[in-house]
Amino acid sequence: MLCPVCSHRDTKVIDSRLTLDRAGIRRRRQCLKCNFRFSTVEQIEILDLTVVKRDGTKQPYNRDKIIQGLRKALEKRSYTEESFINLVSRIERDIQKTKKNELTSNQIGEIVMRKLESFDQVGYIRYASVYRDFRDVGSFQREVKNIMSRRHKRRKKK
Ligand SMILES: [Zn+2]
Repeated sequence: MLCPVCSHRDTKVIDSRLTLDRAGIRRRRQCLKCNFRFSTVEQIEILDLTVVKRDGTKQPYNRDKIIQGLRKALEKRSYTEESFINLVSRIERDIQKTKKNELTSNQIGEIVMRKLESFDQVGYIRYASVYRDFRDVGSFQREVKNIMSRRHKRRKKK
């Protein structure tokens, strides 16, 4: 990214946010040489994907739904916009890696959960409690236990 004033190559990102239509990322940058500030908009690829809902109806993939679900799960948790945007792109990359044109909402939910688990444990549990539709306190507790033991194992490895 060249500075529009002095053409210097190195700029730092000072702020990132999704554009209003959530189809792009607006980044505020600052030139490391002359300190000039400017913004760039990067378009995010739109997935060509059909989502099959639990009742069998189909609808085009909608990034907004993923974002809304994540924001809700992460309510009052602390995270930066930049890391949130990265989380969304990692989820979409995994969706793309399936190389399928049709996924069920459950399959997408599983992908979201996998990424959310390493992003924020509380958010993960909130999200899982909606998506896995825990039928009773027992199954919810088992899931929390699973998370704790996976976390414990990861720590041991380090
Ligand atoms: Zn400059």
